[in-house]
Amino acid sequence: MSPAQLLEALVGTASVSGTEEAVSAFLVKQLTALGFRPRQEGLNVWFEVGHGGSHNGAPRLLFVSHLDTVPPCAGWSTDPFKPHWEGESLHGLGANDAKGSVAAMILAAQILMAQEVGSNGTAVFAFVREEERGGQGIQELLPKLGKLDAAVVGEPTGLKVCAAQRGMLVLQCVAQGVSAHVAHAKLGENAIHKAARDMMKLEAMAFEAHPLLGTTKPVVTQVNGGLARNQVPDRCEFVVDLRTTPNLSDAQVVARLSAELQSHVSVLASGYRPMATDAGQAIVKAALKAAGAKVPVGSDTTSDWAFLGDLPAVKAGPGDTMRSHRPNEWLSLKELNAGTTFYAALAREYFRLKALEAVHG
Ligand SMILES: [Zn+2]
Repeated sequence: MSPAQLLEALVGTASVSGTEEAVSAFLVKQLTALGFRPRQEGLNVWFEVGHGGSHNGAPRLLFVSHLDTVPPCAGWSTDPFKPHWEGESLHGLGANDAKGSVAAMILAAQILMAQEVGSNGTAVFAFVREEERGGQGIQELLPKLGKLDAAVVGEPTGLKVCAAQRGMLVLQCVAQGVSAHVAHAKLGENAIHKAARDMMKLEAMAFEAHPLLGTTKPVVTQVNGGLARNQVPDRCEFVVDLRTTPNLSDAQVVARLSAELQSHVSVLASGYRPMATDAGQAIVKAALKAAGAKVPVGSDTTSDWAFLGDLPAVKAGPGDTMRSHRPNEWLSLKELNAGTTFYAALAREYFRLKALEAVHG
């Protein structure tokens, strides 16, 4: 199977989040045919290139990407589930996010196996389900992968090395007032007016900027208040979505909002931690070398990296995040091949740096 055929087969196997059965089965079959020994954990698929196990202290580097896609949106000019080539570019749902990264990782694994790069360490490849619906796949698979020393998260970044990514914190705010007839509004306290004053404060609020990610902006995304046209509302609820940065904890953000707003603030959703890896870590150095870049960048979108805990990690892959979750998503063969070369070079360089670290302490 050529790189083009592999990408086409992956894109041609529909895998909207929650329906990864077919793509998972396809991968197991395909990886076995390529000479790997894939294991299935639920619908997640993983395999190793190298020694296997972690008994000898050699480093273990995780390559992880996701098998699922979002559902197709409106506006596709062709069938999103039928991959088709326009010149050297493959169009189809998931081509860019993230089946290009999956294909590039598999092709890189073939190179690493052929070069016997595994004598210096083990590359662990994991392709997981439901990244687009809360990261269930990586959370159930991670404890089964054994000791890991670093990770590469495959998402379309144009092969830019992301050493930081935003998290997500969703807050529920409730403004309380006192109800009254509108004709006697002075007797009441208008909860919607109170909420509105808080929203103006939120818009003006500035958090300390992160060097790679910039500042966090609170965004009011939903408002609900008022029971009747002629009644002063005694309650107004609104939702605030913050794309957080790793220099501020969720607790600090909540404390700051609680102090500045009159509304009561509580956490509606968290768990997507903001992440960052120090530029001095071998994984960042290796990724930059493989990318031919001097400095890492930050990423505004979250990913399965949010669930990797303190594992030093970078996010990088072929394609462009601006094409994700949009009609007529595509990836070029040139991007796929560059991704393959990048991942293979990254693994080689990472194992080389870890061997040097082991010698020099
Ligand atoms: Zn993705």
